[in-house]
Amino acid sequence: MTVEITRETIDRYNRPGPRYTSYPTVPHWSNTFTAEDYLAALHDVAVTNDPISVYVHLPFCAERCAYCGCNATSTRRPAVVDQYLDRIEHELAMITAHLSTGRRVVQLHWGGGTPNFLNEAQTRRLMGLLRAAFTIAPDAEVALEVDPRIGSREQVFLFRELGFNRISFGVQDIAQEVQIAIGRIQPLWQTENVVRAARDAGFSSINIDLVYGLPYQTPASFAMTLQAMIDLHPDRIACFSYAHLPQARPNQKRVDARQLPTGYDKFQLFRQAIETLTAVGYEWIGMDHFALANDELAIAARERRLQRNFMGYTVLPAPHQIGFGMSAIGDLAGRYVQNDSGLGRYQRAIDEGCLPITRGMRLSDDDLMRRHAIMHLMCNLEVPFDLPLPPHGWRLGEVFTAEIERIAAYADDHLVVVEPNRLRVTDRGRFFVRNLAMELDRYFQQATERPIFSSTV
Ligand code: SF4
Repeated sequence: MTVEITRETIDRYNRPGPRYTSYPTVPHWSNTFTAEDYLAALHDVAVTNDPISVYVHLPFCAERCAYCGCNATSTRRPAVVDQYLDRIEHELAMITAHLSTGRRVVQLHWGGGTPNFLNEAQTRRLMGLLRAAFTIAPDAEVALEVDPRIGSREQVFLFRELGFNRISFGVQDIAQEVQIAIGRIQPLWQTENVVRAARDAGFSSINIDLVYGLPYQTPASFAMTLQAMIDLHPDRIACFSYAHLPQARPNQKRVDARQLPTGYDKFQLFRQAIETLTAVGYEWIGMDHFALANDELAIAARERRLQRNFMGYTVLPAPHQIGFGMSAIGDLAGRYVQNDSGLGRYQRAIDEGCLPITRGMRLSDDDLMRRHAIMHLMCNLEVPFDLPLPPHGWRLGEVFTAEIERIAAYADDHLVVVEPNRLRVTDRGRFFVRNLAMELDRYFQQATERPIFSSTV
């Protein structure tokens, strides 16, 4: 796929905007959302037979990478992890007390931090706790994120034995100069070993995460990274934009901001990823993912039924997602809820027998309709006029006439095409799909986020 975009177009549309992993976005959630509000949401889930998604946040890493934007903490002491798992056990008990026992789970995700920082006993313990609390469906997506630097063949086989069927490896970039600059030295052989092990163990989906916009990344160095990943032949490759926010993430002060590619140079790296990966059989999915043509994400994207939640793109979303662990996010019964992102505060709340939530939001009917329209646009690259919107099933074209007009105006710059039954996002428009989504965002007045092709996102 080749897309011609000029520097002038980038400059015009490279505006600050959210990534829309949620709508309304997190800054609009309120810290007046209480544990009682969360219990009311759990009660609403309890009276249904709906399946759920479960996310567990495991924040531990051996050391903090300089570029890291995750909610992570470094430790070398296994006892710290054991104590955290004690709290997860309590949190599971608190939550399942309000749900019917053995609630069916169709999606389970361990994120971090570094989930494979847990040793074998800890890994078995956590999966045992989850299986005791829930019924994990035989066809559930059971996924985890793995750091190849501390991964081993034995560990990958352990994950498979415990029921994981999807695995995601963090790579970012293989160039030595870049790795030194981001404080993450990861020789290629480490990645090759764990990918080979995952294939031998029979994982149904192998993903690799890359990052563009890192210090010292050049088209030549990035070409090397892309080719090395293609040689590994993962089912999926995610290519995230590096967000440099040292005020919010002090560890990023170790990154030399003068060496960051920005503006058109950063855009060129992303375009390079698209052109390279689509030339060898990957399809561009949503904003920044790539999947082989026979991967279920690629099939769902072609059929315009791709969806997305906090765990990423999916074809199997449950109506409700419940998060466990510090900073974990829930999305259930029309509410968002987030746990405290401080390890000490999270653990203290659990010890006091309180749900450790720090903020949340109850979505209005208007929020629910806009959320559905935005998610469909971000995943399936269209605004279909007859799309039924929750909670009442009203048609998008009847509810959002002014918004449709505003999005249709982007046809002048060939970002969308106006068709009889929908607005379709063009290949050129895909780079700016956030700008299109902002037209559906009732809260978006003033940017709290950064342009995608600046050094920050
Ligand atoms: S980038 Fe990954 S491994 Fe590095 S500190 Fe962050 S969560 Fe841990």
